[in-house]
Amino acid sequence: MAEILVLVDHADGVVRKPALELLTLARRIGEPSAVVLGAGAAAADIAAKAGEYGAAKVYVADGAEFTDQLVVPKVDALTQIAQAASPAAVLVTSSGEGKEVAARVALRLGSGIITDAVDVRAGAEGPVATQSVFAASFTVDSRVGKGVPVITVKPNAVAPEAAPAAGAVENVTVAFTGNAAKVTSRTPRVSSGRPELTEAAIVVSGGRGVGEAAGFGVVEELADALGAAVGASRAAVDAGWYPHSNQVGQTGKQVSPQLYVANGISGAIQHRAGMQTSKTIVAVNKDPEAPIFELADYGVVGDLFAVLPQLTAEVKTRKG
Ligand code: FAD
Repeated sequence: MAEILVLVDHADGVVRKPALELLTLARRIGEPSAVVLGAGAAAADIAAKAGEYGAAKVYVADGAEFTDQLVVPKVDALTQIAQAASPAAVLVTSSGEGKEVAARVALRLGSGIITDAVDVRAGAEGPVATQSVFAASFTVDSRVGKGVPVITVKPNAVAPEAAPAAGAVENVTVAFTGNAAKVTSRTPRVSSGRPELTEAAIVVSGGRGVGEAAGFGVVEELADALGAAVGASRAAVDAGWYPHSNQVGQTGKQVSPQLYVANGISGAIQHRAGMQTSKTIVAVNKDPEAPIFELADYGVVGDLFAVLPQLTAEVKTRKG
């Protein structure tokens, strides 16, 4: 079966959920091999986890370069592993860093890249990736015409499913090219206790309709009842009601959860650009003509301050 390289995203010794999704997706188009870079003492645990999710082989490369520098060491490693393995595809998570690594690897391999895929399937002439474009007006299927296809896949494209495989570790020595930007300090993200916005299975967002910073209270209560991340429109962020790190959209974060609940958000094209690939979209808006309803699978016309507390109470009741 064709080998599919999967770059495994990990943090603090733990494999991130999008990497498990990539391994699940890779099994549909071939036999996954995981690539684990810079995991230090946790490398064996990370490799074992990759094996649980179907990696027949796990390429492990260690070195201070992966943490002391920005993306170039990862590009060096993934390129050299791909050159040696000649895989049928390379899959990378569609994060900011993932897309930078993927683009540079594709360039070095002299092949092509498809970004922000929401699905990947086997095609007669190689893997076919699906993207949703122009505010979800079009679904585009495409494939890379030359060389090893490098594809970045949005988090939540599939639900991760375990499928134990050998997970045989192959240690790799990387020839680092140098010239990488050095990390001078790291500041840990202040944790809200909620899931990471771009990886969350459910996102509950608020817009200008929440009226003031305190208005996000009802949004957060629903998010917490659902175990969701909180998002915000740019209007809410620009008003200073919520941090920019939670902004969803063209100039914010791209999210693709199983469920996106938009509250008091009109549905401007720049907001859609960040959430249009969500599997199910629910909108709560008091204006029945709000454009968000064109995109929504379920719409509630009403005042969010009346609707959200009822929804939160119902969710809590059902959860027992
Ligand atoms: P509005 O458009 O003002 O909509 C508020 C909605 O709330 C209305 O539909 C109203 O009916 C409803 N409402 C009001 N009160 C209630 C209530 N009590 N209950 C229920 N509903 C209520 N926007 C983004 O979001 N993300 C981006 O990344 C982004 N990038 C941009 C980049 C550029 C270059 C530009 C030009 C714009 C960008 N924007 C972005 C801004 C975007 O164009 C819109 O201005 C913004 O999305 C509007 O935010 P909103 O929907 O919260 O506000």
